[in-house]
Amino acid sequence: MIPYGKQDISQQDINAVIDVLQSDFLTQGPKVPAFEAAITAYTKAQFAVAVNSATSALHIACLALGLSEGDWLWTSPITFVASANCGLYCGAQIDFVDIDPKTYNMSVSALEAKLEKAKLSGTLPKVVIPVHLCGQSCDMKKIHSLSKEYGFHIIEDASHAIGGRYLDGPVGQCLYSDITVFSFHPVKIVTTAEGGVAVTNDPSLAEKMQLFRSHGVTRDPELMQKKSCGGWYYEQVELGFNYRMTELQAALGVSQMQRLDEFVAKRHLLAKRYNQLLLNLPITLPFQLESSYSGLHLYVIRLKLDKTSLTHQQVFSLLREKGVGVNLHYIPVHTQPYYKRMGFSQGDFPNAEAYYREAISLPMFHLMTQVQQDKVVSTLSEIIINNSLELN
Ligand SMILES: *Cc1c(COP(=O)(O)O)cnc(C)c1O
Repeated sequence: MIPYGKQDISQQDINAVIDVLQSDFLTQGPKVPAFEAAITAYTKAQFAVAVNSATSALHIACLALGLSEGDWLWTSPITFVASANCGLYCGAQIDFVDIDPKTYNMSVSALEAKLEKAKLSGTLPKVVIPVHLCGQSCDMKKIHSLSKEYGFHIIEDASHAIGGRYLDGPVGQCLYSDITVFSFHPVKIVTTAEGGVAVTNDPSLAEKMQLFRSHGVTRDPELMQKKSCGGWYYEQVELGFNYRMTELQAALGVSQMQRLDEFVAKRHLLAKRYNQLLLNLPITLPFQLESSYSGLHLYVIRLKLDKTSLTHQQVFSLLREKGVGVNLHYIPVHTQPYYKRMGFSQGDFPNAEAYYREAISLPMFHLMTQVQQDKVVSTLSEIIINNSLELN
């Protein structure tokens, strides 16, 4: 089976991890700060807080922004559940903003309309989490200007978008947000096995996220309420967690970051080739905005179901049966049983639901060969052409 995503681990990556295993520190050593420095150098954000997953990064980002009971968090329904769950961890209530039918990112016009309504009912969100789906940045300039008008904070969920650019800067520079979060799960663009990072330009947010990452405990006299009683002394000043990244993960991350541009460039070559080879099929290809350079975590096509006698599920299953490991990103979060119990229903976000009825993520990863890509293309073409309503 050709997988939809797969990590590329080099001998240099392996050596970097072995070096840590033979060093004095497996955790809380020099590699995590080195990884954070690699992230700030790349993204041009001032501070980076590395943690054990993007889910943890989203959680500490929400906590640092003061999200709590009685607050609202809004995100896109087309995302991984973690982008919404982080609000629930803080006791906040969740709502969604429907997607743009072209980019599949949070629709700015839907956001604006929803904010207008929420203002009247006194239910404006404290935090909005735009998700850069497939690696293409949301319209951050517009969302940022709405944040000033309506007074909410912004966390960019850039789990798909490291290595991407928005306007003139790297995604993660936080010019239009408070905090940006990246994921380093193996299917993502660079990996630390499990891992995530939150970047920001705000020193007080960085300080809070550092506290929440590690039990809310500090050894910094500046942050203590009492005077240090000796070298052993630390204080717990917040209720934090153990969300730390290990030295092994960080060393892998430092090594992987050196190939980030190469990883994204290869994804662009693959996407360009898909665009050419799939051009004449009755499917919708990914839409690329001029204003951004996508990280291209995913290559998502949409079936035109009125042009084929097969259902979405049949096309998906046939691809898998024939060895093409397709996937679907994502099931709209509001239709998950856990979210339905909160009162969401089918029909709440029609563009997201329409997308879900037609979307398929084709395999795309750094080590993908032309032969593998040709097999994806020929398998998909055969399925669609053999069952075309127009030809039959
Ligand atoms: C992968 C992903 C996450 C969670 O990342 P982890 O590192 O696995 O916790 C969150 N949001 C989006 C959009 C993702 O794709």
